[in-house]
Amino acid sequence: MTTYFYTPPDRIHGDRLTLPPDEALHAFRVVRHRIGDEIVVVDGEGGWYRVVIEGIDARQVAGRIAERRKEVGEPAFRLRVGMALLKQEKRFSNFLEKATELGVAEVIPLVTARTEKQSIRPARVEHILQAAMKQCLRSRVVATSEPRALDALMAIIGDELVLVCHESSDASSDALLDVLVRAGTPPALTLLVGPEGGFTDAEVARLTAAGARVVSLGERRLRAETAAIAACA
Ligand code: SAH
Repeated sequence: MTTYFYTPPDRIHGDRLTLPPDEALHAFRVVRHRIGDEIVVVDGEGGWYRVVIEGIDARQVAGRIAERRKEVGEPAFRLRVGMALLKQEKRFSNFLEKATELGVAEVIPLVTARTEKQSIRPARVEHILQAAMKQCLRSRVVATSEPRALDALMAIIGDELVLVCHESSDASSDALLDVLVRAGTPPALTLLVGPEGGFTDAEVARLTAAGARVVSLGERRLRAETAAIAACA
């Protein structure tokens, strides 16, 4: 099984790179690499490197780049998700991991009228996204940002297709799949998913007035993170 290692771009100089201490420890102690071994390193910004280890101990790994590629594991389609913060951080974190695996480009944490939690721990988010990137063999870490309000999100999206996942009591809203088929294959798309209590009617009205389309994922009421994962897939 290929194990990917991460290093930030500022540790890459010409055809040489080093791994940060936590990655070096993992390479040396857990995977038990030694001088002469080949490893794959990604930089989180689309860079992919096959590296021959030239020096290794529990604190550092230095290597020579034998091959470099760009955007390995990255889809051409740009999917962005505005995902409401959830009461249980574990559920939100779980979505971040699955979003990475499903090829999402960006997750914007949302604060909506019914959001109860207003913050996330940035270091934890970064750790989850980085680990997920390596695990699923991507070369780009999912972009994320500080939690934003809905209006702030709509302001940065511009004229991209925005689909609001919203459960409705009647059968009036279109199925996500039908809307996508009718839209052809847009190069970019933003999906919005609400918190446990859902979007308010006023929010849905504001979003549709701003050009977003309401879509359904079926007649069952899904947990927010299930809805987000299903919609991304
Ligand atoms: N308002 C509901 C539950 C919201 S479910 C209530 O409290 O009864 C949380 C979020 O998941 C919703 O805001 C929506 O974005 C998404 N979601 C859940 N089920 C859905 C479905 N069947 N179709 C579309 N979106 C759904």
